[in-house]
Amino acid sequence: MKTIGLIGGMSWESSLEYYRIINEEVKNRLGGQHSAKVLLYSLDFHPIEEFQRRGRWEDMALILIDAAKRLERAGADFILICTNTMHKVAPEVQDSIKIPLLHIADATAEQIKATGISVVGLLGTKYTMEQDFLKGYLSSKHGFDVIVPNADSRDTVHNIIYDELCIGTIREESKKMFLRIIQDLAAEGAQGVILGCTEIPLLVHPGDTSLPLFDTTAIHAKKAVEMALEDSELQ
Ligand code: GLU
Repeated sequence: MKTIGLIGGMSWESSLEYYRIINEEVKNRLGGQHSAKVLLYSLDFHPIEEFQRRGRWEDMALILIDAAKRLERAGADFILICTNTMHKVAPEVQDSIKIPLLHIADATAEQIKATGISVVGLLGTKYTMEQDFLKGYLSSKHGFDVIVPNADSRDTVHNIIYDELCIGTIREESKKMFLRIIQDLAAEGAQGVILGCTEIPLLVHPGDTSLPLFDTTAIHAKKAVEMALEDSELQ
């Protein structure tokens, strides 16, 4: 079994989910007392969130490169960045290490393709919904037509992520707002919606609506287990 390296803490609320899902998936696949080999490097999110608001992506790239190198030195076989937003600096992180980085959008695209869906809604932080590092990647590399909510709804989603979910607050009222925004995306033609922020699945779950929802946390974590067990005698 390979060792999975996680760059987490963005926020730790969702890193906990990665740790839980990865171990549950290993248990489901291997049974017995099996559990995952994981190295977690958990960052302090406060300065990162501030850098995001100031647009200081080069500074954040340096922080994530440092984390990735630590994981590589500690023996990780491959790494995951446990947030969609910070995939903005994924190319710089991959360039700085020799081990592979499992990109969250590649794992998610594989799942969406398996359903035959081609028009997909995207929910996430404003960085994720408005910039091209994930949206553009999904359309140029994977051929999806990606729809995002209108400006008011993008504000609502973004604020709920940072002011509530990243600090562990779960509100029924916020869930209703998310479900309404998901319905709006469906009305605009989305055949499914990507929960493209690793905290959204703390609030909204596949099954809360009849529209297919793609939980990037679970998809990314399960793909990591698949990679960890590839070529392993322990399948
Ligand atoms: N975890 C979130 C994401 O998947 C947002 C927090 C962050 O900015 O990293 O985008």
